[in-house]
Amino acid sequence: MKILVINSGSSSLKYQLFDYDNKKVIAKGLCERIGIDNPHFKHEDASGHVINEDRRLDSHGDAVRTMIDTLLDPEFPVIGKLDEITAVGHRIVHGGPYFSKPVIMTEESKDSVRKCFPWSPLHNPANLIGVEVCESLMPGIPQVGVFDTAFHHSMPPEAYMYGIPYEYYEKYGVRRYGFHGTSHAYVTRRASELTQFEWNASHRLITCHLGNGASFAAVKGGVCIDTSMGLTPLEGIMMGTRCGSIDPAIVPFLAKLDNLSLDEVDGLLNHKSGIYGISGISSDFRDVHAAASQGNYRAKLAVQMFCYQAVKILGSFIAALGGIDTIVFTAGIGENDSVVRQSICEGISYRGLKIDDDINNATHGKEVKLSTDDSLVEVFVIPTNEELSIAMQTVDLLALA
Ligand code: AMP
Repeated sequence: MKILVINSGSSSLKYQLFDYDNKKVIAKGLCERIGIDNPHFKHEDASGHVINEDRRLDSHGDAVRTMIDTLLDPEFPVIGKLDEITAVGHRIVHGGPYFSKPVIMTEESKDSVRKCFPWSPLHNPANLIGVEVCESLMPGIPQVGVFDTAFHHSMPPEAYMYGIPYEYYEKYGVRRYGFHGTSHAYVTRRASELTQFEWNASHRLITCHLGNGASFAAVKGGVCIDTSMGLTPLEGIMMGTRCGSIDPAIVPFLAKLDNLSLDEVDGLLNHKSGIYGISGISSDFRDVHAAASQGNYRAKLAVQMFCYQAVKILGSFIAALGGIDTIVFTAGIGENDSVVRQSICEGISYRGLKIDDDINNATHGKEVKLSTDDSLVEVFVIPTNEELSIAMQTVDLLALA
């Protein structure tokens, strides 16, 4: 069975075609700078055939046609006919209060995706264009929407409400939604297979998606009960360039003192803050570690702040879960950065958590159990795979497995 996964952005379209039975990517590609200058197309398939060249891509329609023509190219065929593709799974960033699970895209579900535009004005319209173009160019093939927010839909109101007047929840849907849901869902599923504790309704798991964007999910019995990102992906731990949770009064304070518009403050908090803003060097942990090892105070501080904030969030989620059985690290930092993992695990050692330092130091981007046999908390590194997660959720929805 072949499942195509599409991640459509405002000027880009990424795709991966899975041989689902073997969980293997048989082709993947990226159309960049759609509708702007210097459009570019990259493609590679499992046989090693690679395309990497400028292409005319005036619209998302052009991008999808380019992808289809490439997959069907008689000289380097990935598939013989379009109907070999069983279904298409589309990443959709925001499902608002409407989507708790993947859905087949119908006129009704597309209307609900449109209702989510105010919460994700850059991503959702682009995601929907991807769906509509595929509907018209791949008739008869089910198009499935998989939402970044859906995994967090199970949070109770006390976790998702903010302490502001209730009318703003009713009028504008101001509440916590959470993000990185396909990643949290993927590593939760894998943790359920790896755990040596009983995987039942009481199992207490925290998934730590630590990448350029970073978020945590508190998961009880496989169900998300809280997450660190909020109405937008700015809340929670400080990130590559995002400030994370701060005193909200800082916004008017900076606007007044530096005579900044709200958009300028928003830009500052999203693009100039976090690891980059504190270190003054880079948003990338590799650069910041290198500077810290040369004695750079602000680089060291940035890493210390990140780890300290992670421990505080983990501590609050351990309280929310009533204890902890399993912790999972994933994404760029979680999978690769042994220094950050070691520091965070040290902060949770009061719970009887112990990791094997040699295994931790040797682990980069592979699935591994870090905790020792006598640790009271299991710790895993599980590489995330958001595209495979979308393919799996697509297959589950269509009951194709
Ligand atoms: P992601 O958003 O999941 O792709 O993660 C990207 C981030 O992971 C980068 O900005 C780095 O901060 C971090 N990262 C990637 N590789 C490494 C590594 N080998 N060591 C430390 N951090 C890494």
